This record gives sequence, C-alpha cells and structure tokens, in this order.
Amino acid sequence: MSGLAKASADWRRLAHNVEVLAAVAGVPMMAMVKADAYGHGMVPAARVAVEAGAAGLGVVTLREAWQLKRRPDLAETTVMAFFFAPDQPGLAEVVGAGVELGVSSHAQLESVAAAADRAGRPARVHLKGDTGMSRGGVAEHEWAQVAEAAAKHQAAGSVVVAGAWSHMACADEVGHPSNAEQKAAFERFLGVVAAAGLEPEVRHLANSAALIADPEARYDLVRPGIALYGYNPVPGFPVDLRPVLEVRSVVMSVKRLPAGTGVSYGHTVRLEREANVALVPLGYADGVPRAASGRAEVYLAGKRRRVLGRICMDQFVVDCGDDAVKAGEPVVLIGAGEQHPDADDWSAWAGTIPNDVLTGIGSRVPRLWNRGVGPVEGG
Ligand SMILES: *Cc1c(COP(=O)(O)O)cnc(C)c1O
Repeated sequence: MSGLAKASADWRRLAHNVEVLAAVAGVPMMAMVKADAYGHGMVPAARVAVEAGAAGLGVVTLREAWQLKRRPDLAETTVMAFFFAPDQPGLAEVVGAGVELGVSSHAQLESVAAAADRAGRPARVHLKGDTGMSRGGVAEHEWAQVAEAAAKHQAAGSVVVAGAWSHMACADEVGHPSNAEQKAAFERFLGVVAAAGLEPEVRHLANSAALIADPEARYDLVRPGIALYGYNPVPGFPVDLRPVLEVRSVVMSVKRLPAGTGVSYGHTVRLEREANVALVPLGYADGVPRAASGRAEVYLAGKRRRVLGRICMDQFVVDCGDDAVKAGEPVVLIGAGEQHPDADDWSAWAGTIPNDVLTGIGSRVPRLWNRGVGPVEGG
C-alpha cells in the first residue's frame, strides 16, 4: 500500500520557523530534532535548522546524537543527548565524539566522568535539576550533593559543566501557578550550582511553549521542538509558524453504495443517503489515529470530506456524496493549504497533541524529503 502514500517536508517552512522563533526568543536556539525530528527526518531537519541559524541540536538517545555528530557537516555543531543509562554501551564513544550530555542523577554523573576518562577527553555535561515536572532531573534535596560532585570532576578534568537546565510541566497554560513555582525553583537550582563553584555557560528552561509565552523562561538558550515544525502549543499567542510536513495518499477505489449501508468495523455509521464512497489506503498502522474515527476529515477532490466509521489498520473510507471522485485522486491527510487538515485537527479529533500525531506517522509511509527544489538525501 505504501506506494500510495507519501510524507514530504517543505524545508523552506522549517527555515522560516527557525528564524521566526529565534527572533521571538532573542537568545540562541537548540533545535530539538529527536524522534526523527518529530517525524520529519532527523538529518535533513538538523541541517536545515543549523543553516537557518540554530546554535545546537537536541536529541534524546545516544544513538541519535551519534548519527548527527559523526556527519562531517555537523561535526562542529553542538549536539546534546538528553537521556542515557549509567554505563550505557557507547557512552565513551559519544563523549569522545564531543556530544554534550544531560545529567539528571549522581549515577549518571559518575558514569559520564568514567566514560570521559576512557575517552581521554572531558565530557561536556548539562546538569538537570527537577524544578517541579517530577520526571527527570536531580531532586532538590540532592542538588548540592550532585553539584559538588560535578565540581570535583570538573577540577579533575573529567567533566566540564557546560549547562544547567530544567523542563517545565505547564508552560502551555499561561498563568498556571506551577510556571512561577518552577522558575523560582530553577533560580534556587542555579544558586546551588553557583555555590558549588560552577559557572555553566548556558542556563536553559524553555520548550516551545515557554519560548513563545514566557520571556522570563528564555535564559541563555531555548529548546523548541513542536513549534519548529509549525505547531504553536500556546493558545492566544500568535506566531507566524508554518506546518512543515505533508502526508498525502490517493484514492484506491470508489464505489456507489445505497442508503442505509453500514460502513467499516462495527458499523458505527450507516449512510444516510446513497453515496460514492472512496477507499484510502492508509490506516492506524501508518499513524492515522484510530481515536479520530467518527470525527476525522480529509481533503479530497477540492474539499474537506468526512471519514466514514472506524479507521482501520491499513485503510479508511471517505464519504464523497454524489461527487464523481476517481481512483488515483490525491487525498491530503496533513497539509499546509487553507482547507487542508493539519496535525492540530487530527490531534483535536483524536484527543491528543500534534507532537503525538507527527511522531506517530508509521514506517510504511515513504518520506520524500525535499527542500521544495528537488530531492535531498534523507540519511
Ligand atoms: C522534546 C524536548 C523539548 C521540546 O519540547 P516542545 O514542547 O516540543 O517544544 C525541549 N526540551 C527537552 C529536554 C525535550 O526533550
């Protein structure tokens, strides 16, 4: 079925979003290109973001960081990996390659210092304090202990504390009390880091939402993800962002069915009147959210049309009324056109967020990464 679908990225729009967000932030940007750049293709997205002015690249796993850092064209770019397990294989190699590491525990700090000694090169680390997200990060009662241990390793030449950072839980809800609490906690964390004698080059706290909505959270570096790809997570704070990704398919077949016909699994819907129904060969295995069944729409033959009944694993059905739609007709699932559905629409239909929709696009959907001027190598 995959020959009947494709995902494409318009890199001019990504470059535009990088520039717009950099102007809003007024401080350097680490472009978050984890998770295949939210489904957009990690390497081409990273290259475009750096060309457009991003000061660094953020990913989660050591493997992602290695894939970026080993490329000659990104070797000089700051690449930061946010997660690793203490004693994870490959740690010395990525330290040796110059990847910067987020450190969220004493155990991680010790294993990075040991890896740096094996690599023969100090590890550049960013200490993460948990300021209220209650996910990763050193808990407040351990801040001093970890900062002092980092200072010792820095004095011994094993690590350089390049950054101090945290992550916000509610930045997309402007005025949520936890935002002020987290910023206050981050200030306390910076105080503890300074008291240990450390002077990190960068302090960073802001994801897309905090970058857009909260000037106090921007510090020395911002870490946008979803906004780079064209989706603004903060209602009421307009920014000129453009969706980068498009997902298209084609109609595989069309048939005319009588009024009263039940459609798709469970017959959750019956045709109210006789209609032409089109079969589209993409389903939840390709990332079309099953939870959007009953609400979703696609753009087909000049207008938005409703998806009938349940979205299946490999296909779904579209109500085309009396319109003479033909097999081979393009279908836009995610697009940037005025009438096209986008990842915000799908997330509203499925009860999720665009990050989830974009990162969920399945591996069967071929990615045609292009810059709008011709194909670019994807790997
Ligand atoms: C993913 C991620 C971000 C980006 O979050 P968005 O809400 O997509 O902007 C920022 N910082 C860290 C550490 C992340 O893992």
